[in-house]
Amino acid sequence: MEVAVKKLLKSYHLRSTPVRKQVLDLFIQTSHALGKANIEAELDEIDRITLYRTLRTFEQKGIIHQAIDGSGKTKYALCSHECSEHEHHDHHAHFYCTRCEKTVCMNSITVPKIDIPDDFQIASAQLILSGTCKNCQR
Ligand SMILES: [Zn+2]
Ligand SMILES: [Zn+2]
Ligand SMILES: [Zn+2]
Repeated sequence: MEVAVKKLLKSYHLRSTPVRKQVLDLFIQTSHALGKANIEAELDEIDRITLYRTLRTFEQKGIIHQAIDGSGKTKYALCSHECSEHEHHDHHAHFYCTRCEKTVCMNSITVPKIDIPDDFQIASAQLILSGTCKNCQR
């Protein structure tokens, strides 16, 4: 894993730092989106400002995207391979579980094209689904 993470960072022209490696590794290991609080809870004694910067860098590089779920909390999830620097293609739905408050990327569900009146221009569109995840249905 250590080697894979290093390679991945290198492929994005990012220097390997302990925080970058830890954070990227955490995203790879986790199947749901992560908020800052989640990351801080998982990684002991991580400096908040360094974490904030790392997330911003990763987002700019097309490694992670914001998983908007209507909860008002900023969460991030790993991008697909189509994303690149300053160009995200994460036009998929996000599922928010109202019980465990976890958010998951629904990569197979794309946001449909929406016809809006000519006076408006869409810059972004979010498709948010909410309900209960598999774990919470038991
Ligand atoms: Zn992306
Ligand atoms: Zn759940
Ligand atoms: Zn997503």
